[in-house]
Amino acid sequence: MKKEQKRILVTGGAGFLGSHLCKRLLEESCEVLCLDNYFTGSKDNIVDLIGHPYFELIRHDITFPLYLEIDEIYNLACPASPIHYQHDPVQTLKTSVHGAINMLGLAKRVKAKIFQASTSEVYGDPAIHPQPESYWGNVNPIGIRSCYDEGKRCAETLFFDYHRQHRVNIRVGRLFNTYGPNMHPNDGRVVSNFIIQALQNKPITIYGDGEQTRSFCYVDDLIELMIRFMSAGDDFIGPMNMGNPGEFTIKELAERIITMSNSKSQLTFVDLPQDDPKQRKPEISLAQQKLDWTPKVKLEDGLVKTIEYFDNLLKNRAGQ
Ligand code: NAD
Ligand code: UDP
Repeated sequence: MKKEQKRILVTGGAGFLGSHLCKRLLEESCEVLCLDNYFTGSKDNIVDLIGHPYFELIRHDITFPLYLEIDEIYNLACPASPIHYQHDPVQTLKTSVHGAINMLGLAKRVKAKIFQASTSEVYGDPAIHPQPESYWGNVNPIGIRSCYDEGKRCAETLFFDYHRQHRVNIRVGRLFNTYGPNMHPNDGRVVSNFIIQALQNKPITIYGDGEQTRSFCYVDDLIELMIRFMSAGDDFIGPMNMGNPGEFTIKELAERIITMSNSKSQLTFVDLPQDDPKQRKPEISLAQQKLDWTPKVKLEDGLVKTIEYFDNLLKNRAGQ
């Protein structure tokens, strides 16, 4: 290893965001240790990186401790889609809470800088709009989304307590809905669901009346912000919103995807899941001022790339 080369641990490295981050860090000439237990991630996402001299895979569950010599940690391990995180809620909580304790303990021991992938879900069903970092949220502590929302909130508390008590060098980013290639095709998130349904000319499943809103960030913009955040001075630790403030109703998203994929799909309206937030839009002036970051990829452009990805995936499957 070259002396100045950073060795970086990416937990959840075989997942959607982790796989893009691993690739980007290798391009930045870092040595990358990609850790995953493959609960929702897949080797398919990182197959192009296997064999790279500075890329290493570690099969491990972060709810158990581990020891490694590293300079930085990106803690991304955690199922992110409602279907996956509700599949085993206790394990989801353990991943957020025990996982954070283990990764923070590791960071403390080896004096590594550590980033936490927190979430807009810490704001729950927000009572103020758009959501600034100063908002404390409106979260149901006992609902079906709570294992994720409260787990991530507790992880933020742990990060700030390790920082105050043990001087661990932290960064906490609150990610808003992000989409792009390498999303899991069956994880039930809205962008992947709608694209797959549209490509197969099947009904587009709108939960509720489709008037709830989300703001969608293309993966490349988000990864750029993560890297900038970790590279910036140690006086800026967050929490910082990470997302694209362009806000759309779910019905608008469905209509766009139908048009863009030349689909014959019709909209179908089904029950809204419990505690589904009615609106979500990040206030991003902190990221703009501190890191000179603004999202560049328009929804249309990001959707083109994502539709192409899923189209190829479906064609490859059909050919098998
Ligand atoms: P993903 O499900 O594709 O990736 C998560 C990865 O973590 C998977 O590879 C999974 O196998 C792994 N994992 C899960 N539990 C683990 C454990 N106990 N030990 C080791 N590995 C484990 O999800 P993603 O969209 O890539 O999300 C990555 C991170 O970003 C998550 O922490 C998620 O909460 C956060 N986030 C994502 C979004 C988004 O829109 N994608 C929004 C907010 C927050
Ligand atoms: N949604 C939908 N149809 C689907 C999947 C999701 O209408 O097939 C809705 C869901 O109810 C929510 C929004 O789309 O209001 C975003 O859902 P997702 O699971 O992607 O993310 P989150 O709710 O965590 O923001």
